[in-house]
Amino acid sequence: MRTPLPLMFLALLGSLSLSASAQTSYPQILIPTGEGDYQFADDYQTPWDEVEIFVTEKMSPNLYTLHGSQGIDRNHPDASGGRAMVLFGPDGVLLVDTQNRQVAEKTYAAIRSFTDGPIRVLVNSHVHSDHTGANAFFGKQGALIFAQENLQLDLIMPRPGGRPAQEPDTDGYPVVTYRYDPDKAGEPAVTLKMNGEIVDFIPMMPSHTAGDTVVRFRNANVVYIEDFYRNFGYPFAAQTSGGSIRGMIEAIDLLQTIAGPDTWLIPGHGTLIHREDLLPYRAMVEDILNRVTRMRNDGMTLAQVLAANVTAPYDATTEGDTQESKDRFVTAVYDEVRDFPPIVNGRRDMPRR
Ligand SMILES: [Zn+2]
Repeated sequence: MRTPLPLMFLALLGSLSLSASAQTSYPQILIPTGEGDYQFADDYQTPWDEVEIFVTEKMSPNLYTLHGSQGIDRNHPDASGGRAMVLFGPDGVLLVDTQNRQVAEKTYAAIRSFTDGPIRVLVNSHVHSDHTGANAFFGKQGALIFAQENLQLDLIMPRPGGRPAQEPDTDGYPVVTYRYDPDKAGEPAVTLKMNGEIVDFIPMMPSHTAGDTVVRFRNANVVYIEDFYRNFGYPFAAQTSGGSIRGMIEAIDLLQTIAGPDTWLIPGHGTLIHREDLLPYRAMVEDILNRVTRMRNDGMTLAQVLAANVTAPYDATTEGDTQESKDRFVTAVYDEVRDFPPIVNGRRDMPRR
């Protein structure tokens, strides 16, 4: 339908007369993540019925992020769960990650607060239950699930001596899988055109896990970068799921080419950043890697390295720098220096302590 010229003229005049603040610009941060300091009793259990799921950021007119309440979830006190993204419009809904299983209905209700489109596509950034927990719920809604093959293997296989990441339910398993190929680093494995967007699923090297995918929305100029970067707590390479500290450094370097200088990067947890914000994090990871490598090669035990408090120079500038978070990071670095187990079916047989 053609707009009559006088109306177009009026619309143009209207937009020119508006101040910049009255125009819609993105991102809109509706609910910032919390900053702490959070304390929980040793026996504290997350009360899932108290967790709410909100639209926390709008990245474009039809690309929103969902995140949970602060101060309730022990694993993620700054905002419960792992951030999810929703692209919506006439072609239906594309979801990045599904939040925890316990809040599936609330995640669904949050989506239904702005779109009634069918849930058509789901891509998982990595296997952890705060990102895949409600997969089966959304699979039952009709979502076609995409992920790296390593994620699928890790999700399906029961863990020896442990619980699977979610209750086994084939509706939640990825059905379209792809692999990371070092010769094609940064190239999308899948590109979808939906709702006026061009969406790239880009498989990553073993970094946060061995099944990571970052998701680029070209028109909105946004990349969901999942969990190899975080700005609440110290880095977490989930080595049992194939993650790697060195891979996290490679992931940061690859992001410098996947994203432009103005691209908004959306971590699974913490605040939104640009690619240059990855660089001090990279420098910190490399510094700790170098220090711990020297210490282990000098014969120091893990206990001695942990006691040396190598992260001290970074504690003041690291939000959520709990002892647990520091020890997990330094232990992962120590384990990676020597005798680092290979990835088999998306997992590493790490030393149990
Ligand atoms: Zn996460």
